Amino acid sequence: MIQVSGLHKSFGELKVLQGIDQVVEKGEKLVIIGPSGSGKSTFLRCLNLLETPSEGKIYIEGECITDPKVNVNRIRQKMGMVFQHFNLFPHLTVLENLTLAPIRIKNMAKDQAEALARSLLKKVGLLDKEREYPSRLSGGQKQRIAIARALAMQPDIMLFDEPTSALDPEMVGEVLGVMKELATEGMTMVVVTHEMGFAREVGSKLLFMDEGKILEQGDPRTIFQDPQHPRTREFLSKVL
Ligand code: ADP
Ligand code: MG
Repeated sequence: MIQVSGLHKSFGELKVLQGIDQVVEKGEKLVIIGPSGSGKSTFLRCLNLLETPSEGKIYIEGECITDPKVNVNRIRQKMGMVFQHFNLFPHLTVLENLTLAPIRIKNMAKDQAEALARSLLKKVGLLDKEREYPSRLSGGQKQRIAIARALAMQPDIMLFDEPTSALDPEMVGEVLGVMKELATEGMTMVVVTHEMGFAREVGSKLLFMDEGKILEQGDPRTIFQDPQHPRTREFLSKVL
């Protein structure tokens, strides 16, 4: 699904990614942890070309997306992205938030887009909110809507960047619940998170990143139990 080799990203003098190599198979759940500023978000943003890699190659479903001739919009449609701060359109209702891109970008008929939106609202447990505006929803509800909106484009891969970090603690569970269901259904997922329980339970592979490099990777349960790299040990001792 995803193949990354020799990925570097610099902002001016600042080397944020320093040689990332990674393969994500179909249906895999890659979980990325690491200290703030280690390049986790930049890595996700390179995967869907929200950032342009400085060096290296990224293949999505066999297609080289770092080729300058690639159609960026078509590549982005394969990937749904969920951010820490929901980024819902405030002036649109929940239903309109979900149907906008399928209608405008995929040329889906309005009826069809609405039917799809409702099935996704049902999936995230918010079918009764279709006429609400985002400002009237709780943080957990907004994030579940953001996930449904990403799914409305019927992506092959879902990227999550700390989707629960901005939520009050009591709302974290409802969002992780939706993500777990997606995982069970076989979605290919790349998740940056500080939720170690989720990482252990759902992750098929765990990456520990520090200073733009992958310092350790493998089975989450093994790494949590017996981290090999001193930096992983130090990080886990702080967060577990
Ligand atoms: P993480 O998600 O692990 O906290 P980020 O990928 O957001 O880390 O950031 C890694 C480093 O890159 C940080 O030092 C950050 O300040 C820097 N950075 C990220 N985006 C930009 C940008 N657009 N311009 C300049 N520096 C950036
Ligand atoms: Mg980040």
